[in-house]
Amino acid sequence: MLENKAIRTELSELGEFGLIHELTKNIKLKHKSTIKGVGDDAAVISYGSKQTLITTDLLIENVHFDMTFMPLKHLGYKTAIVNFSDIVAMNGIPRQLIVGIGASNRFSVEALKEIYKGIYLACENYKVDLIGGDTVSSVSGLFISGTAIGEAAKNEVVYRNTAQKGDLIFVSGDLGAAYMGLMILEREKQAFKADPNLQPDLEGHDYILGRQLKPEARTDITKLLKGVGVIPTSMIDISDGLASEILHICTDSDKGCSIYEDKLPIDPATVSMANEFNIDPTTCALNGGEDYELLFTISQKDYEKVKDIYGISVIGHITDKSEGINLISRSGTQVPITAQGWDAFLKGKEKN
Ligand code: ADP
Ligand code: MG
Repeated sequence: MLENKAIRTELSELGEFGLIHELTKNIKLKHKSTIKGVGDDAAVISYGSKQTLITTDLLIENVHFDMTFMPLKHLGYKTAIVNFSDIVAMNGIPRQLIVGIGASNRFSVEALKEIYKGIYLACENYKVDLIGGDTVSSVSGLFISGTAIGEAAKNEVVYRNTAQKGDLIFVSGDLGAAYMGLMILEREKQAFKADPNLQPDLEGHDYILGRQLKPEARTDITKLLKGVGVIPTSMIDISDGLASEILHICTDSDKGCSIYEDKLPIDPATVSMANEFNIDPTTCALNGGEDYELLFTISQKDYEKVKDIYGISVIGHITDKSEGINLISRSGTQVPITAQGWDAFLKGKEKN
């Protein structure tokens, strides 16, 4: 993929400082809170009386992404988004980003600039300042780490461990599509390995591929909630799948829950792809991961205020811890959700 590029500048031609300059020379800072960005030993930020939120994520080639089907620009975009999503999940606003990169000489300057195009696009879309990073060489493979910094008023920060009995459980958007996108990309990669003359068959799968390759952080949802004056009682972003995230909320809050299978928002494109792969769409929603949607709880008294917000669905409610963490299947069977939720779920189905 990289070899086909017309121009290839070796990393060694620029050297570390030349490369950093090349990657950061056009930065224009957007925020008053960014006092000093790239160019010194440390960046300086100040939020005055607000609280500062900090999060970091490390992405490693062949573990978190696969260069054979992850375009470089998308990789940059995703690196930024997964971090912004964590800030949003605290009900904060992402403001600054720091990016560390470890690249082997397999990567050219042009390749790294392509990754930065994606990072800068995400920073534009979410109004975030890139304020620094680190650039090192790696013996093999590519590493990218992102650290996002955000702000929130003290009384607006939302944690995972504060869900209350009786709260309604919501998710934004729809679930399972990113996983189906990954399955298609993996399938085409295998087909390509078997027969390199084969063209990838990605036609007609725009939605689910986009969900895998170009996720978004749901700042729009937290803004809408703020607009109607509602602060969730707890919140988390869905990076590892609904099952894993609801377990976090319930376990950390010392509560149980009932989630209803028939309420899970799943896009028709996800359902039809799941059928093609012979996977239960509910399994995709529970365990797929990488949707970067928000899972949050809301006090029942706030239901009237949020019920007309487009793009969020009620999927269940918080119960006493003693009632357990359960999925209520379409047929009404109660199945405990575990980290490998689908295992228990499949067993539960067999009992029917
Ligand atoms: P130091 O030697 O003090 O670690 P560096 O030479 O690594 O400093 O970095 C110089 C400046 O460039 C710092 O402000 C740093 O945050 C920034 N920087 C380095 N690498 C990157 C990168 N990949 N992306 C953005 N900024 C970077
Ligand atoms: Mg450094």
